[in-house]
Amino acid sequence: MYAEIILGKASRYLDKIYHYSIPSKLKNKLQIGHQVIVPFGKREDIGYVVGFVEKAEVEKVKDILEITSPVPLFSPKQVELARWLADYYCSFFITALRCVMPPGGKIPITKIQDTNKVQRPRSKGQLELTEEQEEALAEIVTAIDKEVPDKFLLYGVTGSGKTEVYMQAVAHVLTKGKSAIVMVPEIGLTPQLVQRFRDRFSDHIAVLHSDMAMKQRQKEWGRVARDEARIVLGARSAIFAPLKNLGLIVIDEEYETSYKQDKSPRYHAREVAGELARLNQAVIIMGSATPSIETYYHAERGDYKKLILSKRIDNVALPPVEIIDMCETKQYLLSKELRSELAQTLSRGEQAVLFINRRGYFTFVMCRQCGHTISCPRCEISLSYHSQDRKLRCNRCDYSCVAPVICPRCHSSSVKYFGIGTQRIENEVAQVYPAARILRWDSDSASKRGSHEVFFSAFERGEADVLIGTQMVTKGLDVAKVTLIGVVSADTALQLPDFRSAEHTFQLLTQVAGRAGRHHLPGKVIIQTYSPNHYAIVAAAKHDYESFYKQEIEHRRELGYPPFSKLISLMVSGIDEKKVCGVCEDLAKFLRNKLTEGVLGPAPAAISKVRGRFRYHILLKGKELDVLRKAVSETLEKVTVPAEVRVAVDVEPMGML
Ligand code: ADP
Ligand code: ZN
Ligand code: ZN
Repeated sequence: MYAEIILGKASRYLDKIYHYSIPSKLKNKLQIGHQVIVPFGKREDIGYVVGFVEKAEVEKVKDILEITSPVPLFSPKQVELARWLADYYCSFFITALRCVMPPGGKIPITKIQDTNKVQRPRSKGQLELTEEQEEALAEIVTAIDKEVPDKFLLYGVTGSGKTEVYMQAVAHVLTKGKSAIVMVPEIGLTPQLVQRFRDRFSDHIAVLHSDMAMKQRQKEWGRVARDEARIVLGARSAIFAPLKNLGLIVIDEEYETSYKQDKSPRYHAREVAGELARLNQAVIIMGSATPSIETYYHAERGDYKKLILSKRIDNVALPPVEIIDMCETKQYLLSKELRSELAQTLSRGEQAVLFINRRGYFTFVMCRQCGHTISCPRCEISLSYHSQDRKLRCNRCDYSCVAPVICPRCHSSSVKYFGIGTQRIENEVAQVYPAARILRWDSDSASKRGSHEVFFSAFERGEADVLIGTQMVTKGLDVAKVTLIGVVSADTALQLPDFRSAEHTFQLLTQVAGRAGRHHLPGKVIIQTYSPNHYAIVAAAKHDYESFYKQEIEHRRELGYPPFSKLISLMVSGIDEKKVCGVCEDLAKFLRNKLTEGVLGPAPAAISKVRGRFRYHILLKGKELDVLRKAVSETLEKVTVPAEVRVAVDVEPMGML
């Protein structure tokens, strides 16, 4: 018997399995998942046991020296998942394996608990379901009982009772002695959801996400590994939690881009969930009012089962939405309609939320005399202005400088601050309603850990009248006195060179609009835009997903984008632009040899420079992901890439920037 070992270092040349013999002192101890020390060349290296074989491939096999982890760090099933992950996303096996290892590579050692003491969790406070919820749950329960890896799309607006269905499905899984993963896009932004799960399932929950302190994550991971917690609630990385006997995976708002990891392995938690469910015969529920186009397409075709929750539980109608054409409003960021609604709302003692779509938008500085804009010397994107310390900052790297009063190019004093920072809106609100107490909630003011909750509760307690914020205000906010939502700039994201920009805009606007009038006070939404006739905006204003879907799917079909094709992007970056272009040319040449069509580029990326590195990309488009992947891996074997040039392979990319 020999052990299959993967070395701890990620490198193209070492990313294979090595065989080692097992000395007698380790014979009865060594298991899959153990971290070990092995001789490698003239040195000793750290490795991980990923399997056992009867015969070794090489003649001279060396002994494993010792075991260095007190317990296995992953299970045989997790090895399978990691192998799939590496194949699917063209990453190194060791990089994929790190995903399934405990955070920081360690499980804190604690007293072994008597597992018999872990009672079957009892849930409390279940609500009596509506007819639609009942039907949805019945289908899910049937699939759970049959142990078939069915996928459900639970399609319903915010407030239609999806979370209640999740919780009762989880409760059912627990009664079968099984476990569940519940994923939300950004757990720090949904404290209310976490609290509801805690109220229902008390301490049978482990919370896992990468913003948590390492110690805390390890502790939670340990509780799951020891079977003390059978429900894992978390962001995308929760999909790798070491649960035994998995029965259910819930993915809330599956369309959110935060489910995609932006470093290797560039996985999408929804796809990983699919594989994990297949390995465990577990059921998947995806819940949303605005599913991704791909997911809805699968539901329409019957690949997923569509379960519909057609109304809000309290029967409160979705708020009316008014579209304001901003071409008419030149001087201000807030139109006269929005100003007037704001004044009325505040004078009634109610609350308002003003939302800025930050995606693709930067508050920039321009000289009115010569048109010079001030941009980051390293990233070449416009710097944004922060009035607090009067500094210009880069949104990509940490570059900052003092905001100039005199134009660095023509030396005139006509430097003007453009764009719609939260601060400028704050000033305009103060003009409209001087007594307004304003809370600004953006990544600058809310970057500290836990401060989202602080903001949430301050606003909830009515300590402010107006909340101004970026994407974050769209998530989870549910405040009774919020009756006005103003979308200051609906279309900034529409300009982005990304085939999903209409979809993102629609989803964002729908989510934002759902935050008004959630209780007994009637709400209103105002969308300000420069493209009042764009189908994404018109459909969002009518809360009409179906009509948006019908138009969008036709665009995708015409242009051959997902779900009608598969994509792989290769992003090549480096300090030396010539070298980057050289690598791109080589890659493209090899790829074109292997694929007769669908090799687009190379071209400079939309964000063409980051932290001093030039970025070029090649996009592969085809029917079969396998064919594209094979072409990529064969190409990467042939093309020599200089050490300082990086090639990032992104299978099914989410962002095209
Ligand atoms: P969603 O997840 O679709 O936004 P929720 O599950 O959060 O919807 O439900 C919205 C509100 O309605 C919550 O306050 C929830 O407690 C309540 N609710 C959900 N289902 C029921 C039900 N069957 N009976 C009464 N109230 C319910
Ligand atoms: Zn920069
Ligand atoms: Zn100038």
